[in-house]
Amino acid sequence: MTERRYLVRTFGCQMNEHDSERIAGLLTADGYVPAAEASEADVVVFNTCAIRENADNRLYGNLGHLRPLKQANPRMRIVVAGCLAQKDGGLIQERAPWVDVVVGTHALPGLLDLLVSAEAEGPQMDVREYTEVFPSALPARREVAHHAWVSIAVGCDNACTFCIVPLVRGAQRSRPVGDVLAEVQGLARHGVVEVTLLGQNVNTFGRDLTVPGSARRPLFADLLRAVNDVEGLRRIRFTSPHPHDFTPDVIDAMAESEKVCEHIHFPLQSGSDRVLRAMQRSYRRQRYLDWLEAIRGVITDIAVSTDIIVGFPAETEEDFEDTLDVVRRARFDQAYTFQYSPRPGTRAATMDEQVPKEVVQERFERLVAVQEEISLERMRDQVGRTVEVLVEGTGRKGGVQGRTRMNRLVHLPGQIAPGTFVAATVVSAHPHHLVGEQVRVPVAVG
Ligand code: SAM
Ligand code: SF4
Repeated sequence: MTERRYLVRTFGCQMNEHDSERIAGLLTADGYVPAAEASEADVVVFNTCAIRENADNRLYGNLGHLRPLKQANPRMRIVVAGCLAQKDGGLIQERAPWVDVVVGTHALPGLLDLLVSAEAEGPQMDVREYTEVFPSALPARREVAHHAWVSIAVGCDNACTFCIVPLVRGAQRSRPVGDVLAEVQGLARHGVVEVTLLGQNVNTFGRDLTVPGSARRPLFADLLRAVNDVEGLRRIRFTSPHPHDFTPDVIDAMAESEKVCEHIHFPLQSGSDRVLRAMQRSYRRQRYLDWLEAIRGVITDIAVSTDIIVGFPAETEEDFEDTLDVVRRARFDQAYTFQYSPRPGTRAATMDEQVPKEVVQERFERLVAVQEEISLERMRDQVGRTVEVLVEGTGRKGGVQGRTRMNRLVHLPGQIAPGTFVAATVVSAHPHHLVGEQVRVPVAVG
């Protein structure tokens, strides 16, 4: 019998990358092997994102490209998974009837059964609304041996007016601490040296958990300390926290846990109080800057990245200037900048005064230019320093690339195996990466 092959295409955030590892794990456990291209695959999975509009267009474009392949190979099965599957449900098979399986974010554990049913009965769909089995509990097939995503919670209890996540991922559900720890311990035993704890709002982890016999809920700070004690692990990262929930106990736990890396993602979204209110973000610009200062007061050398949306409904030039002002004051290392995209089903999509596309584009370009300058200055501060780099793999410019504890991308010459820690001296800086030289003699890094 010839081998059955699969291909998984992932769109969107780290949560989707994590889920794709589980999709690949389920298919591998069932005897499938990876295919290099869709034309060789018996099962093609699109793990989709619903955050921005072009994600929809991209999916339907990709499905269109697959149609002739499926006509040539009727045995091919096409699966749409992820947030867009959860959001659009039956609409997907209406628009693209050659899709065999639509599997929502809560239904991933049933993927193999859905494929079997599709074989016997034709197109299948499961977009149930409640997670019974955490995707993390499923087998994984990870792309790299030294790093792993670990889901600690799914869903989100906030209601930011621009965001589709609560609609497609549901309310927050935290994983029991014991389950998270057992997974991390197992990973460390198998050579994983870096984990990224994942949740839509990681720092509210545990608020929905109860511990029998205890009045106290396990909190994110407790989890960080517990993961820090796992033997063999060297780096801990987490994403995404909500600024509002970055409480002093979390900052202390970070400072006292030597494996927790000196990097936080601290999503601003807007620097205008008026827009923040309309977004239903619970903080205001000054509060945000004060929190940042408090964090930098405790962990002095910390990198900060952020998310910013440009062109939220009714955003004025003055609101946008406020965003630029916070960006200049906050001095982010990196910013993920997004043009606002109305998501059907969200409050903001129904708001009056959507900002014209050309205005959004012009503001977006100004924001990117300001941030690039700041990113470059922050990177230049690194030149001459010796940093610890965890090598990730081949670099785009030849040689290898890896990341510092502060999550800075470093290109190094030569060939070094992925998963190796090296000390490197930074020789030049660019807005999005550094160039380093490996230090041959062991030195203290800092
Ligand atoms: N839970 C995370 C938080 O609160 O920061 C955000 C998760 S979301 C997957 C990642 C980012 O996408 C958001 O921080 C926001 O900047 C951006 N985003 C979400 N909805 C958007 C929309 N409708 N238009 C543009 N960007 C959006
Ligand atoms: Fe979306 Fe993040 Fe707001 Fe939750 S906290 S609604 S995931 S932007």
